[in-house]
Amino acid sequence: MTGNFRTRQRGPHYTAAMQSFDVVILGAGAAGLFCAGVAGQLGLKVLVIDHSEKVAEKIRISGGGRCNFTNRDTSAANFLGDNPAFCRSALARYTPQDFIALLQRHGVAWHEKHKGQLFCDHSAEDIIRLLLAECEAGGVTRWQPCRVQSIGFSGASPHGSSPGSYELDSDHGRVQAAAVVVATGGLSIPKIGASDLGYRIAHQFELPVVAPRPALVPLTFDAAAWAPYAELAGLALPVKIETGSKKNRISFAEDLLFTHRGLSGPGVLQISSYWQPGTPISLNLAPLQALPAWLAQAKAGSRRLIANELGALVPARLADAWVAQGAAQGHNWQRPINEASDKALGALAERVSHWALTPTGTEGYRKAEVTAGGVDTRALSSQTMESRQPGLYFIGEVVDVTGWLGGYNFQWAWASGFACAQGLAARLRPAADST
Ligand SMILES: Cc1cc2nc3c(=O)[nH]c(=O)nc-3n(C[C@H](O)[C@H](O)[C@H](O)COP(=O)(O)OP(=O)(O)OC[C@H]3O[C@@H](n4cnc5c(N)ncnc54)[C@H](O)[C@@H]3O)c2cc1C
Repeated sequence: MTGNFRTRQRGPHYTAAMQSFDVVILGAGAAGLFCAGVAGQLGLKVLVIDHSEKVAEKIRISGGGRCNFTNRDTSAANFLGDNPAFCRSALARYTPQDFIALLQRHGVAWHEKHKGQLFCDHSAEDIIRLLLAECEAGGVTRWQPCRVQSIGFSGASPHGSSPGSYELDSDHGRVQAAAVVVATGGLSIPKIGASDLGYRIAHQFELPVVAPRPALVPLTFDAAAWAPYAELAGLALPVKIETGSKKNRISFAEDLLFTHRGLSGPGVLQISSYWQPGTPISLNLAPLQALPAWLAQAKAGSRRLIANELGALVPARLADAWVAQGAAQGHNWQRPINEASDKALGALAERVSHWALTPTGTEGYRKAEVTAGGVDTRALSSQTMESRQPGLYFIGEVVDVTGWLGGYNFQWAWASGFACAQGLAARLRPAADST
């Protein structure tokens, strides 16, 4: 956020040089650029302002440089937020198929990876070029790099003769607009331009914000407690991972990756969005095995050491670390499995399928793919993304709508941007047509 951003009640003075637009969109990321292109093509005079040198840096680095731009199987169930139903309407009105059709019109080649995740064949730059071409087609003006210092609103007249308007001070001068769209994203990856401007604007206009927190982020553990596993850094395995209480339990079947400080990989990133500090996560390290039956069978037909049998269930390096840890806790897994009691094997099965670990934290915004929380959807229209403050809209990640890993966050950026552009056109087109 620009350090000198300030709240300003608009005064009566206008400067002669002030430029005028129907809409000013703050943020030239996924949601802002998409919304700008649609709104421009619907006949609105649109200005996009971004403080970064380059547009859409997050698209550029997304999906390992190939941008997982949507998920074929998107529904409200793939999102979290205080009001999980909020995203339903926008998602229904701009679907993954709609975005695929847009890619086809632009000749962008793509392919499907696992679980409906769609990626560019060549580069994420293809998506950025597409968005800029759509903006061009809509006659969108872009100011970049450009900081916004203040936003003021002159209120609607009591008799409805004026709906009110916004005035913004920026590095490029003062600008006036009937509507402002906040598309400044979340707080993750500050080094490529993330800022809290969106939340500050919400506060300025007394709109509630659900406390932001890092999501889709690696989990970390107390260094001493993690020491036995730190040397497993780089090891990946498929797991079932869970968190939450009985009432709100959530689980994912995805890969897990050991790191020097804790756990990462798709399964951990997914669960991190739901994990509450101080609570445990539970791992099933052999999700494809019915463990009690498997161990009973091993006991009946084998004299191998329990540790070796464990090595057949999970990667050998992990089995070794477990056996060493088990010994420290009084378990002898270096004896033949046929000598183990049913109780001991039952306890082992339970441990392998419900390994409970309590993270001490996350890797934070430096490594988080997204920010959970954000502008409270109770203050927004699910049809148009307009807030209680007339003419002020919020779209994309700045809103308290957070997608799972797998292309859902970009689909939310497209869908919320599209709903907003439609809402803007319905509100402002008569004015735009008359200019
Ligand atoms: C490493 C990484 C990989 C990801 N991969 C994927 C993926 O493959 N699929 C997926 O669906 N999601 C992915 N995401 C998430 C996705 O990038 C975001 O959810 C999405 O970009 C949000 O779009 P947005 O337009 O709301 O915000 P952003 O794309 O973050 O855009 C916000 C824009 O606002 C500008 N801005 C911020 N503050 C100011 C200010 N003070 N003044 C002016 N401008 C400002 C920024 O410069 C930026 O251009 C990934 C995220 C990361 C970090």
